[in-house]
Amino acid sequence: MPELPEVETVARGLRQAILGRRIISVSLGKTDFIDDPAALEQHLPGRQIEAVERYGKFMLLRLSAVNGENRIATNGDAAPASLLVHLGMTGQIAPSPAGQPLQKHTHVCLLLDDGRELRYTDARRFGRIAYLTKALLAEELTGFGADPLEVSKEEFADRICGRRARIKALLLDQSVLRGVGNIYADESLWRARVHPAQLGAKLSRKQVERLRRALRDILQKAIVLRGSSISDFLDAEGEPGEYQRHHRAYGREGKNCYRCKTPVRRAIVVGRSSYFCPRCQPSPRGFVVLPLSKKNARKTKRRDAENAEKSQRRNRKSR
Ligand SMILES: [Zn+2]
Repeated sequence: MPELPEVETVARGLRQAILGRRIISVSLGKTDFIDDPAALEQHLPGRQIEAVERYGKFMLLRLSAVNGENRIATNGDAAPASLLVHLGMTGQIAPSPAGQPLQKHTHVCLLLDDGRELRYTDARRFGRIAYLTKALLAEELTGFGADPLEVSKEEFADRICGRRARIKALLLDQSVLRGVGNIYADESLWRARVHPAQLGAKLSRKQVERLRRALRDILQKAIVLRGSSISDFLDAEGEPGEYQRHHRAYGREGKNCYRCKTPVRRAIVVGRSSYFCPRCQPSPRGFVVLPLSKKNARKTKRRDAENAEKSQRRNRKSR
């Protein structure tokens, strides 16, 4: 599932490709992942794409007032608005020449004023698209935590220290930090030498600050390398990312730790597969890693995929 660096990569690509373009018309395929499909058809035409922003793991296309008039209008159907795009697990968004045949699973086409179409494809449709007025957007953005690229030392410590939850859960919790998922949680915990099952309350201030810096540095480097392509992530130009080559923990079960040569282990922590070095990241008292037979490994892999899917569904239901 695309995390902060992958979404940032797509947002940057879109900024290059479609900023300033006006939406002429909208055509939709399957719409079960769209909040209010009629609102897209009714309110998008005539609006200019003024900005593409990333917020946590989703994008916001900032749209002008209809026909660019009354840019300062604050109410009514013509007022500036936003299009929220969440890529879910398999979503891709990119412009194509309008004459080009549609790829399979294309569900949204926005015809632009330069003859191209902004197309959204999503095989599994765990993504989400929503047309949001100013009021709906404000409501949407409440309850999110800090951006890990911008969070200060003090705020990060406030959000982690003293919490009775496991650090992995805190990193994944979008109301604590927005944009971190399984890959970058494991990578930053490995870099900071913190075990994923450790409780927030058990971490020293020094460890917490080490973790904040590790997370920030890893996310920044991953953005430079245009994200990690694990399953089918492609950027707005249809290119895979390259950060997966730099993973130090994620997906490396049984391979030697880059620091100490101990084989990396995998365990289920807060319902998610977690990769860590048992030597560099000492486990909290009482945390036992069971040996993984091949059969168990398959089982946990399947369960992990199911859990990821379930949490996607929960996200969609709770909106
Ligand atoms: Zn190690």
